[in-house]
Amino acid sequence: MSFERAGVCTLDCPDTCSLTVTVDADRVVKVRGSDALPYTEGVICNKVAHHSCEFVHGSRRLRTPLKRIGPRGSERFARISWEHALDTIYQRVTGVIGRWGREAVMPLNYAGPHGMLAYDSMSLRFFHKLGASLLFRGSMCGAVRNEAWVGTYGGVPGIGPEAAAQAKLNVVWGNNATVTNVHLVRNIHASRRRGGRLVVVDPLRTKIAEQADLHLTPRPSTDVLLGFALAVELERLGAHNAAFIAKHVSGYDEFMRLARDWPPEKAAEACGVAASDICTFARWLAEADPLVIAPGNGLERSRNGGSGVRAAVALPALLGKLSATSGVVLCARFAFPKTPDKLTRTDLIPASTRTLNILDIGRHLERDDIDPPLRALFIYNHNPIVVHPDQNRMRKGLLREDIFLVGIDVAMTESMQLCDVVLPAATHFECDDLYPSYGHHWLQRGEPVIPPVGESLPNTEIFRRLAARFGFDDTCFKATDRELMDAAIDGAHPYMQGVKPSEVSTSAALRMAPPDGRPLALFDNLMPATPSGKIELASDALAQRWGPHARLPRFRPRASEFPLALVSPASDKRITSTWLGSDDGNGEPSPLLMHPEDARARRLDGAKSVRVWNDLGSVILPLRITDAVRRGVVASEKGAWLATSETGTTINALVSADDKADLAKGACYNDTRVEVELA
Ligand code: SF4
Repeated sequence: MSFERAGVCTLDCPDTCSLTVTVDADRVVKVRGSDALPYTEGVICNKVAHHSCEFVHGSRRLRTPLKRIGPRGSERFARISWEHALDTIYQRVTGVIGRWGREAVMPLNYAGPHGMLAYDSMSLRFFHKLGASLLFRGSMCGAVRNEAWVGTYGGVPGIGPEAAAQAKLNVVWGNNATVTNVHLVRNIHASRRRGGRLVVVDPLRTKIAEQADLHLTPRPSTDVLLGFALAVELERLGAHNAAFIAKHVSGYDEFMRLARDWPPEKAAEACGVAASDICTFARWLAEADPLVIAPGNGLERSRNGGSGVRAAVALPALLGKLSATSGVVLCARFAFPKTPDKLTRTDLIPASTRTLNILDIGRHLERDDIDPPLRALFIYNHNPIVVHPDQNRMRKGLLREDIFLVGIDVAMTESMQLCDVVLPAATHFECDDLYPSYGHHWLQRGEPVIPPVGESLPNTEIFRRLAARFGFDDTCFKATDRELMDAAIDGAHPYMQGVKPSEVSTSAALRMAPPDGRPLALFDNLMPATPSGKIELASDALAQRWGPHARLPRFRPRASEFPLALVSPASDKRITSTWLGSDDGNGEPSPLLMHPEDARARRLDGAKSVRVWNDLGSVILPLRITDAVRRGVVASEKGAWLATSETGTTINALVSADDKADLAKGACYNDTRVEVELA
């Protein structure tokens, strides 16, 4: 007999939908949206609605611990017991520590599940106690825009995405929202039904761009110039709000001195857009009230990414349009009173433990260029061989037989295939967890709807058992999942309204809000949390963290012998590289989109497949000639597995891991230069 249970989607997506899960005989048989989260209104994306059952119960699911029995990469594994797996890990890791020291061990994890417990809780307690090398993960994604926002406004959340529904102008900037931000789009549609305008900034004509009143297609990495030109044109229009700026903005004169070097005509040429479009955009920004700007991940992933985000989020500050209804939809994470030190027990970290940038791990593995070198990695919540830049280097590093690899995942991914011991993790349908969001201000809690499949275990229990095997007997390693929830969020914070984190209702999300219940919004019930208490268009804090160049946004031009810019938008079939389990098109290579004139110039009309290459590698992809991509730019969806490619490499083989963004040493996925020829 089937029944329904409440759930939460944990995938790497800003919407964090509430779910209704139909269960029959301990199997997930149907997943749909629920009303527990008012923001998502019972609507979920097709990916999760159609493929969750296979994700949980399909042939790719890991059900037992495995041990590699052939050469690395041979994909030959034998089933082993949990006891055998834990013993093997203990012996190999203590051997590494004895030979190379504690910092030769490292977690290599990222953002598979977004529940606070599965993401990193007991896991980091374990690594902190072990004294393993620390990992700076944000540079892979998110830290650039986070730093840009915090440098400008401080650690406060941007406006909730619900504001888009009332906006007179919505600006979707570098955000493939139809694929990655479904409910923001629903709110934008509501605004448009009321007569609101939509401007989209994206080098691709995405689906949301097709619906826009104005679509600007700047060359990748030139967003900062577009932002400067808009600031200049707004000044010419007399739209700068002098009173607001005098009271609440610092660094205005320095910012505008830089911006005035890029009036619309000049910026238009550098960006490859029409100057008249910049002027129209500026006029609409000046006229619109309320105004909502929703930057996505697209613009941060370039050498000028931090500057691009700073220039975009400066616009409402220049206009004085920050209020209960106007603002920037960004950094919702700051709405949640998280207590990460308590959750992950940072006090256990031995003094002077080194921190490594996740983007540099491929180089460290391949070259042994650090002391001590890395000799044991725990890969969890992550598929590094698919998602890291410079894929060939990462592959070489992970193929080394002298580096011990532990893999923890729900599915046999291409990274798990390289591991020495593979541990089966439970999915979010099988775990307790607490779910903040990076796209809205609602906190949710989930309980298991089915028991763990096979011998799989929640990440928290896996690391509890590892801690016990390593002899860690501190009480923090015995904490239950409920206790971890109460360590994850400050239950005494006013936004929690007296609700204990572990007691948040599973059938009603809790909005992070002050006691009067009004949504969080800058210059309504929040003020900037920068050192000066003002909006900082010039930031000494950013200069201290990332170097003097980071004090102000700036443009670094790029010279390359390769003429085409490659960008990698999100797929509507995967969540990054999380393949939900269906073969329904997910196994196909993502085609390369190329403008007809670029194809003609290379005599590629009629070509079925092409070789995309640069000095880092070469990838064969099917060709799709379309004017949905601007001239000079080619695009292919991110997250494709290596098996989809006849060369066994995907576009991340072409992305440099050494080129870093101007803030947070972030990845430059959308700032890759390539050439294309007939395959
Ligand atoms: S992937 Fe995003 S839109 Fe789809 S169900 Fe999960 S949270 Fe909702």
